[in-house]
Amino acid sequence: MLTTVVGSFPANKHPPSSWGQKISEFLGSYDPYYRALEIAVQNQVKAGVNVISDGQVRGSMVELFARSIPGMEYADGTSSITGKILPVNNSIGASDLKKALNIANSIEPGFKKSANVIIGNEFAKEVYGVKGIITGPTTMVLSSRMEGFYRQEDRSQAIIDMARVMKKEAQDLQNAGAAYIQVDEPFLSTGIADLKTASQAMKIVGEELRIPLAMHVCGELSNVFFEILKFPVDILDFEFAGNHTNLSLLENVDLGGKKIGFGCIDTKTVKVESVEEIHKLINKGMDIVGKEKMIIDPDCGMRMLNQESAIQKLKNMTEAVKWLS
Ligand SMILES: [Zn+2]
Repeated sequence: MLTTVVGSFPANKHPPSSWGQKISEFLGSYDPYYRALEIAVQNQVKAGVNVISDGQVRGSMVELFARSIPGMEYADGTSSITGKILPVNNSIGASDLKKALNIANSIEPGFKKSANVIIGNEFAKEVYGVKGIITGPTTMVLSSRMEGFYRQEDRSQAIIDMARVMKKEAQDLQNAGAAYIQVDEPFLSTGIADLKTASQAMKIVGEELRIPLAMHVCGELSNVFFEILKFPVDILDFEFAGNHTNLSLLENVDLGGKKIGFGCIDTKTVKVESVEEIHKLINKGMDIVGKEKMIIDPDCGMRMLNQESAIQKLKNMTEAVKWLS
């Protein structure tokens, strides 16, 4: 079974330490997050994860995008929409995705080569790649203050405009070598999102992709599950470790060819689950969903954990998958 992560990894800024780095800082070319990205990639590869992320080390899922998108502003932990939302000239994440591919490939040759293997939703047995991660249009808009250009009642228009921005970003990540694209839409389980607009937005994001499209929605899904099942994506990624209701929702459900990203590690607690515990949950999932439809990953991003806990959780997760074969 394919293993992956949802995205973020615990990260810190690293001040320059060597003379070379200090000179780079003086010249304005020092990247204080490069080391965090390197640590995230190294640990995911060493833990045996098949499709890794760049660790999303440069900020929160909203901040990462809000800082760069024309029409948005980000200050003091808050994002605002202050003008017409327009596509970004340069990709936001492509450069970090390429860095992650290079680092992964230097540890385990084969990463770079097979990054584009998962084409047409046919998952090879041994796939090594980096996924391109995008914060969903609905989540971006609903977590930002509307100031100016769009009125409150124009939210749907803001979401559609945001989808066009993310469509370009998805293509840029595809061109950078992404194994597949994952769109994070945690707001879809909150009950405040308009699922019809969210689905239209997702269709726009995936319009011209040649690689599979996944959507991650964490939280309790009871009230939205059947609508979310219809979203135009190849993979639906949910949490099952920190949520006991979600698994029962999958019983006797026709997935219509979609795969399930099976979150089997609780990312809200530093307590590391035992391999037995994870293995048991995956087995339950296999009984309900079927092994061939599952991709194994943690419940959500691991940004809020400490590194030791994140690393051990990933190791136990891949070990539990090994027990199955
Ligand atoms: Zn999540």
